[in-house]
Amino acid sequence: MKLEKAFSLDLNRTVTAADADYHYQQGAIRSKFSFKCPGLDCDAQVTCANLDRPKGERILDPYYKVVSDHSDSCTIAKDIRIQKGTKSVYDDEYSDSDEYIENAFRLNLRPLNNARTGNDEADDDEKTGGVRGQRQTTNTPTKRKQQRSRTVSSLVAAFLNGDDFEVQLPGTGLISLRKLFIEIDGQQIGDFEDDMRIYYGKAWLNKSPKGNGFSVRFANALRHEELSVRPSFFINDELIKQSGYRKFQRATLEALASNKPVDIYILSAVGPYLHKSGEYINFKLEGLEYLEYRQN
Ligand SMILES: [Zn+2]
Repeated sequence: MKLEKAFSLDLNRTVTAADADYHYQQGAIRSKFSFKCPGLDCDAQVTCANLDRPKGERILDPYYKVVSDHSDSCTIAKDIRIQKGTKSVYDDEYSDSDEYIENAFRLNLRPLNNARTGNDEADDDEKTGGVRGQRQTTNTPTKRKQQRSRTVSSLVAAFLNGDDFEVQLPGTGLISLRKLFIEIDGQQIGDFEDDMRIYYGKAWLNKSPKGNGFSVRFANALRHEELSVRPSFFINDELIKQSGYRKFQRATLEALASNKPVDIYILSAVGPYLHKSGEYINFKLEGLEYLEYRQN
């Protein structure tokens, strides 16, 4: 979810991403990770994507991305939920500025819920995107071309199969399948693009002591300056309850949690972020459609 403004921890006030860019160039803002949700009583962390990229290398201008959970009382989170609730089920991350590209696949990021239970792999090669589902007007004489799309699960299968093809990312265009995947292996997180990538590696699942989900911790580390730490993310129980997919049901994940590591794949819209404590590196799991795993 994108924000118009965020609270800068360095400036101690709320700024737009364009303002943040100005103050970053001036040295008054030191890091793209030092922002939070501007909502009252909310400490959700915000990344100012692309802030640290030289202007000449940016495809997109800096923008805010919320990377941790809002507080229960956050009014901004409530507004975002209302907006989301009015969207059609065919809505995804793509907009009209994403042109039709022959032979490229889009990401199918439709939530893994309700009617689509049981068959985890059935939704390959769906004709989504391009034409915007229910928004399509019926009086258009020539139907616009519909672009094929593939789920994260299907992209992982293709990657493991050694395939390669072009994938069209929302807002930023084409990338080859082989470059879309990044193995977690000691990199500096500042070197990652703030763009859609699938990060992967061996990881352990653990049941949260609070009983509200599962934590996933990768076996290999990532680095931020001097910090070297194994990155992690959280699978919230709320997501698990919404999913009808067997592979993401609580009992299935519990069985995994007591077992050996699995290969985890997480699609992330921006690079992993430095936790505000300065001690952890985390990913934000946006939904189970952004996640895949394989047992060895
Ligand atoms: Zn918030």
